[in-house]
Amino acid sequence: MYGKGILKGLSVTWKRFWDTYIDDISWLLRGKKRYYSEEGIKHRSSKDQKGIFTIQYPEERLITPEEARYIPFLVYDEKPDGTQEQRCTSCGICAKVCPPQCIWIVRSNDPNTGRPIPEPTEFYIDVDICMNCGFCAEYCPFDAIIMDHDFELASYGRSVYNMEKLLKPASYYKSIRPGQYAKNEAERKAKEAAKAAKAAAAAPKA
Ligand code: SF4
Ligand code: SF4
Repeated sequence: MYGKGILKGLSVTWKRFWDTYIDDISWLLRGKKRYYSEEGIKHRSSKDQKGIFTIQYPEERLITPEEARYIPFLVYDEKPDGTQEQRCTSCGICAKVCPPQCIWIVRSNDPNTGRPIPEPTEFYIDVDICMNCGFCAEYCPFDAIIMDHDFELASYGRSVYNMEKLLKPASYYKSIRPGQYAKNEAERKAKEAAKAAKAAAAAPKA
């Protein structure tokens, strides 16, 4: 029958429309806030939602899943004495694997000996070119570059981020990706323990 598909499609919209009011009333009767509350947004984002599932951005925001990825950032560790230790060794792997080639690294050299120092002097990411693929974070052997969740970066100008903008503490990394952070830390500790055990076995016995 002609128009059957259109009617079927409209019935979905119609059902959603009425279910929204039914949901609104049921939340109201339970004394709960369905809009502008974390619980309400969570419910509207869930598969159990029957009525409206959109949110009123920017007043309301979706809860970002841990695996969401946007422009990468560089991680530094906060030492007990208050100093910062960059994880990046300027090995250049991330720049090599980056498909649109939007990472530039300037390596450090010892001014006296001229020998390379394992940390960058400069690190740039061309944010306008980055396609958020996550390859850099995937291939970094030191968990020094991690995909961020911050997506509200629109600007009228050209955006090339330097180290000042890219560096963020490990505590921030932990706060946005707790599962990945815990896994990486466990792997790091296991590697360090294996290294220490190897060194102890190789040490000459007294
Ligand atoms: S971020 Fe990682 S892969 Fe990139 S240069 Fe630094 S240590 Fe190497
Ligand atoms: S996310 Fe992809 S495109 Fe962006 S800097 Fe990393 S490797 Fe390059």
